[in-house]
Amino acid sequence: MNHEIIIIGGGASSLMLASLLPKNSTVIVESNAKLGAKILISGGGKCNITNADIRSKFYIGEQSFVEKSLKKFNEKSLLKWLAQHNLIPELRKESQYFCKTSAKELLDIFNKECKKQKVLLNEKVLSVEKNNERFSVKTSKRTLSAKYVVVASGGLSFPKIGASPIGYEIAKSFGHSIKKTSAGLVGFTVQRDQFFFKELSGLSTEVQIKIGKELCEGSLLFAHKGISGPAILDASLYWEKGLIDIDFLPNFSFKHIRGSKKQLTSLFPMPKRLTKAFLVQLGLDDKIGNKLSSDDLEKLERLKHYTFAPAGTFGYSKAEVTNGGIATNEIDAHTMQSKRTQGLFFTGEVLDVTGRLGGYNFQWAFSSAYTCAKYLNGEINK
Ligand SMILES: Cc1cc2nc3c(=O)[nH]c(=O)nc-3n(C[C@H](O)[C@H](O)[C@H](O)COP(=O)(O)OP(=O)(O)OC[C@H]3O[C@@H](n4cnc5c(N)ncnc54)[C@H](O)[C@@H]3O)c2cc1C
Repeated sequence: MNHEIIIIGGGASSLMLASLLPKNSTVIVESNAKLGAKILISGGGKCNITNADIRSKFYIGEQSFVEKSLKKFNEKSLLKWLAQHNLIPELRKESQYFCKTSAKELLDIFNKECKKQKVLLNEKVLSVEKNNERFSVKTSKRTLSAKYVVVASGGLSFPKIGASPIGYEIAKSFGHSIKKTSAGLVGFTVQRDQFFFKELSGLSTEVQIKIGKELCEGSLLFAHKGISGPAILDASLYWEKGLIDIDFLPNFSFKHIRGSKKQLTSLFPMPKRLTKAFLVQLGLDDKIGNKLSSDDLEKLERLKHYTFAPAGTFGYSKAEVTNGGIATNEIDAHTMQSKRTQGLFFTGEVLDVTGRLGGYNFQWAFSSAYTCAKYLNGEINK
């Protein structure tokens, strides 16, 4: 089978790209039985499509590389495109855009748009080679041929819905470097000293986490395996190994304690059960504020700087994204084309670009797809 363009993977980035390319120009090869499996489970089933504040500083990766695609197709361009397809997302948590009822609203648009292309499902890409001016794409069922190949096969997160290392393998076979990958936007497992966290499973509290130079704010959720929640997921993007510093009382000043007639469990703005657990750890009673000694107060200060080393993360099976990926200095930011092999492109999460929690990763998948589509449209129309 001969095609102009083959896209490897049928996820968010691929579907936007295929929607923007001319009719009958493209074949999408997807190993799952359906397109866009990750879209359906994203954002708690409602898909956090983008954010009202998209800036490159919310991405880990080469800032100037990310900026070029965001400039071409930002959150406003995306919202306009969605509106043209009758999808008006709902603004939640101040800045995050979600589908109103279900992620299916977004996937339905892509399924409709992609009817104009050829879609091969249940077909796994095994390898890619370039001979003369064309690419041969070997799949589990056949060998396909095309002038252009776009690798949009995502990262390693959620292998149960299709994630595979094929993108990195193809990149390596064409001489590209891969920045070390790890699970990102994921919870932390804990060491023995923090095993008491597990008994607090289900509780949530507002925190501020310092990790290197970064500050991550939001809620922390105690889980039966360790800790999770938005602030922890963001922190996992910056964590390699070593200490993290959690402020469990971010909006609370210790000045209010001394004159208070309230007990600590009523004074601290966190669930009572959590205060009690910390008091046990610190060897303190649930005293009244004005009865606390200087020693007691010094011990309590630990809650403003609770420093410890997580044991690890919950891993790729629970991670929303993959940190690291194909090195972006070997990719042309204006086109998404490999600087090593003409006609070979990479878009989406497979690249070394990772966004914070809040719609940044879909926006990247769509912006990089747009950059690639703009270039390919120009090439096809030459
Ligand atoms: C549970 C969860 C919730 C998330 N929620 C959000 C959210 O609300 N907002 C947000 O911005 N981001 C969210 N993300 C992240 C977001 O889903 C990804 O960053 C985004 O989907 C990346 O798009 P992509 O097209 O690059 O890769 P994917 O969407 O991962 O698509 C890659 C596709 O390639 C296919 N594939 C892999 N290997 C092969 C092969 N060998 N042959 C053929 N096909 C192959 C896969 O099956 C997959 O369909 C979430 C992720 C998860 C796991």
